[in-house]
Amino acid sequence: MIIPHKGHFTPEQLAEVQAIVAEFNCTIRPIQGDAMSVYAIIGDETSQLLVNRIEGLPYVKRVDRIQVPYKVLAKENLHGQARIVLGGKELGREFVIVAGPCAIDPKNPNLFYETAAAVKEAGADALRGGVWKPRTSPYSYQGDAKALDILVEARARTGLQIVTEVMEFDEVQLCVDAKVDVLQVGARNALNYRLLTQIGKLTAGTGIQVLLKRSIHMGPVDEFILAAEYIAGAGNHNVMLCPRGTLPSMNGYRNHPDESITQLLKERTWAPVVVDPSHSVGKAKYVPRAALAAAAYGADGVIIETHCKPVQGTGDDPKQSITPAVLAKLIPELRKVSISGQMFEV
Ligand code: PEP
Ligand code: MN
Repeated sequence: MIIPHKGHFTPEQLAEVQAIVAEFNCTIRPIQGDAMSVYAIIGDETSQLLVNRIEGLPYVKRVDRIQVPYKVLAKENLHGQARIVLGGKELGREFVIVAGPCAIDPKNPNLFYETAAAVKEAGADALRGGVWKPRTSPYSYQGDAKALDILVEARARTGLQIVTEVMEFDEVQLCVDAKVDVLQVGARNALNYRLLTQIGKLTAGTGIQVLLKRSIHMGPVDEFILAAEYIAGAGNHNVMLCPRGTLPSMNGYRNHPDESITQLLKERTWAPVVVDPSHSVGKAKYVPRAALAAAAYGADGVIIETHCKPVQGTGDDPKQSITPAVLAKLIPELRKVSISGQMFEV
């Protein structure tokens, strides 16, 4: 159960609600949003008497009986819903495409600038580029903070908003200072709840958006939404959910494609879904159809690794980046599929 409230309760009001919920062995957890606060009641909150007592308070406009464990991100919590705009497009209204290399090579900034210009030309709405990279092998390229300047410069040159992955507190701070538009939390850190909370706190009220990938180890749908709730509950409601494949189970794809989870996510939460088909199937030739599948499943957008010269790239680029030419052909098809799927909304 939640109490949506414009502004905040005064300390006296909060104490009064606290005392009532305590009588029913429940606790109250304030979740501050940009314009609204949500007071989540936690415990066995099903008593009609409890609802009546709270609804009877003169400063409470309404009580929403949300039973799901994610209080902010629940579909029913329209008061918590964030309006997320990326590249001038509102997620949920228009299909959004994020594209760019897996990793930025700081020794060759021009390669990144060239790709940035090419993905813009191809019709992408925002630019991705990895500054710090989580690599399976400690001997592989790990990223370099110098690449952050290159990413910021590419934004200035193209006008595209930028997306990059953060893995630890110092990186989050550097990105907040550089006003990076979207922070990505990758599949490895999607279960790092302390990091998720820190990100939520540090980005609260900044307008920075967070793209949370699904961990390869995540199972039930709610586990993914609850991970995102750590960010939203810590103060930043601008959260996007990103299925990107779970543990591999097919001999051929890099991971187990999970874009079909989109329909289930969208039934339970208002958070937009932006699918990553690149890490899911893991090979450039499979990516376009996987992206179309995501659009068919109702995704609000996709994030696709794209490189103007994949073989010269680092990280995942040589094997799974598509070229800007392929992206240019794919984008209009994605928009068409996304629109035609709307008539089958779940
Ligand atoms: C990436 O986006 O390049 C990346 C490493 O993603 P993931 O965390 O999904 O593997
Ligand atoms: Mn990658």
